[in-house]
Amino acid sequence: MTNEQARKIIYSKLAAALGLALVLAIVANISKKTMPLTSETATVLAPGVVIDAGHGGYDGGAEWGNVVEKNINLDITLHLREILLAAGYRVALTRYGDYSLIEHAQTKKREDMARRLAIIEQNAPDFIICIHCNAMASTRWSGGQAFCQQDAEQGLELAKDIQHFLREFTATTRFASSLNHYLLRESNITGCLVEAGFLSNSAERELLQQASYQRRIAAAVWLGLDKYSHDEHENSPGN
Ligand SMILES: [Zn+2]
Repeated sequence: MTNEQARKIIYSKLAAALGLALVLAIVANISKKTMPLTSETATVLAPGVVIDAGHGGYDGGAEWGNVVEKNINLDITLHLREILLAAGYRVALTRYGDYSLIEHAQTKKREDMARRLAIIEQNAPDFIICIHCNAMASTRWSGGQAFCQQDAEQGLELAKDIQHFLREFTATTRFASSLNHYLLRESNITGCLVEAGFLSNSAERELLQQASYQRRIAAAVWLGLDKYSHDEHENSPGN
């Protein structure tokens, strides 16, 4: 297959995903609750994904003016959920709205993260995707970036695949990298933390608030997962 043929397939997949938005909006509204990935309707082959929209409720994450990270993370997460459901994945979220996973402010971040981990473990997914946005003191930095847990070989492959499509669909020139993240580390499931962009950069801050751009980020994550799954399957013994 030539590069151009491959590119056409990618764009037709993307167009299909974007065109399904209306149908999927209905699907998304039918079920707002966490559904176990091990439901009877799920097929054995469909990969399971838990998406973690970073922060929520009392914990806004990064802020710039009246733009708060937790809201953009959730928007991207809901777009990604729609696209993945349409593509046949089983999907669960750690949160479906603007709330933290703790009742009392004094129990703080650690308890919230432990509950997110419990949701991930209950669902036993094949992949975890954590969605965040960055903010720096300087306004000059921009670009989405995919991170894996330190020393996670499969995670790094997935991060590279997602980064490939982030570079394809957005202006980012960044490369996949690694970090130390509680959910990726403790769950020990192949996963990726996507920093969708920088709220501290004015142009990117505008883009990150637009549904069309949020869907581009989501499509990049989906195609990255798709590519990773395909390559893994090809490389696994017996194939
Ligand atoms: Zn964050």
